[in-house]
Amino acid sequence: MTSPAIGPRPDSITAVARSFSRMRELRAQDRDGLNLVLSHDQERAAAQAREVQREMDSGVELGPLAGVPFMAKDNIATLHLPTTCGSRLLEGYVSPYEATVITRLQRGGAILAGKTNCDEFAMGSSTEHSAYGPARNPLDPSRVPGGSSGGSAGVVAGGIVRVALGSETGGSVRQPASFCGIVGVKPTYGRVSRYGLVAFASSLDQIGVFGASVHDAATVLEVIAGRDTLDSTSTERPVPSYREAAAKTMKGVVIGRPREYFASSLDPRIAALCDGALAQLRELGAVVKDVSLPNTDLAIPVYYIIAPAEASSNLARYDGVRYGRRVTGDGLSGMYERTRSRGFGAEVTRRILLGTYVLSAGYRDAYYKRAQQVRTLIAEDFHTVFTAGVDVLFTPTAPSTAFELGAKTDDPYAMYLSDIFTVTANLAGVPAMSVPIGRVDGLPVGGQFIAPHFGEQAMFGAAFALERALGARAHQ
Ligand code: GLN
Repeated sequence: MTSPAIGPRPDSITAVARSFSRMRELRAQDRDGLNLVLSHDQERAAAQAREVQREMDSGVELGPLAGVPFMAKDNIATLHLPTTCGSRLLEGYVSPYEATVITRLQRGGAILAGKTNCDEFAMGSSTEHSAYGPARNPLDPSRVPGGSSGGSAGVVAGGIVRVALGSETGGSVRQPASFCGIVGVKPTYGRVSRYGLVAFASSLDQIGVFGASVHDAATVLEVIAGRDTLDSTSTERPVPSYREAAAKTMKGVVIGRPREYFASSLDPRIAALCDGALAQLRELGAVVKDVSLPNTDLAIPVYYIIAPAEASSNLARYDGVRYGRRVTGDGLSGMYERTRSRGFGAEVTRRILLGTYVLSAGYRDAYYKRAQQVRTLIAEDFHTVFTAGVDVLFTPTAPSTAFELGAKTDDPYAMYLSDIFTVTANLAGVPAMSVPIGRVDGLPVGGQFIAPHFGEQAMFGAAFALERALGARAHQ
């Protein structure tokens, strides 16, 4: 599945045609219900492929993804396909501008083949909170692909495209990557421009990458990373070659194994796969060290205060005036009320209510401010281990494999717990990625590398080494 490595396609027209025929093939196998793609335009993609082909044939130097089809989560703004965020409120909405990541990929000759299903406004862990119906896991359609970027993970796992874009606020790339047996990367906060990413929780949001292999994901990140004057939080730091991290040796690399991520409650089969992966890295010369990130258990409560608080503010703009759908009502406030109560689904409504509550007078200091203070402690945990000589951390990505559809929809708290190992990196702003490390009951399990701020190269180095060492066992 992972070779040969992605690179400029000698034949971009065939590459695009193959993506669309794979999509049709899945439908013909009665896998219609996978519901991974919300919109696509084959004619436009084919025209783009012909244009890229012409340029390549006439010797124009395009990027490393020239002629490669990709898909993007439906909360990333695109000019010609709708950007619905999986919400009724934005049904049919076409953005007047394009996200920087889309511009960069297309400028390098990559071809947008479609927009993918996601939890409404990226709030969820299973892609069941999409207003357009749940997406399913191509490896087992009775199960979820993870979320909120489940559609993007699914199109890569299903072989429709080799690479796709997702977004992360609290694990929405890494957790679905783990559930679908592929690679998922969340870069350092500020590494990739958020311009054109529909805001959920701005201090946490970051665009991430899915790939069929570490090399594929590294290639996409290289193209999209870097300063963008349209996003003031994007950094000036130069972008190193992540692909070159493949040559890094593991000799003497210190890998931290945080004990809080390997508590006795962790599924022993997932723990065993993680320890197997660590043993491989040790054999390659890495030094594995037990470490502690003592504030880990506070991450879920802190995240579910900060993220809804920011969301309640960001989602105030959907008022029926400026974006998307309007439902008229009694006067202006009646219109607001009906637009928002009919446009937003249950989970988004819950988050807005929760966020408004924790920011309200009298509660702000008790909840929001306190959560910010604990967030600092969580970031300091990482800082402490990284300054004490740990190069990268290794943990499970998620506490379980892909669960059955409907298993957690009636219990929001159980759903939130599936982010337990991923939200920490978002709260601290550090980069993290999930790589397949094996299977439990035939379902994929991901292992997670976490690195210091802007330590993507070290993280990719370890991921390349592990991928090579595990070989086919990563998918068995
Ligand atoms: N599952 C988490 C949530 O529901 C994270 C979502 C995300 O990363 N976009 O908020």
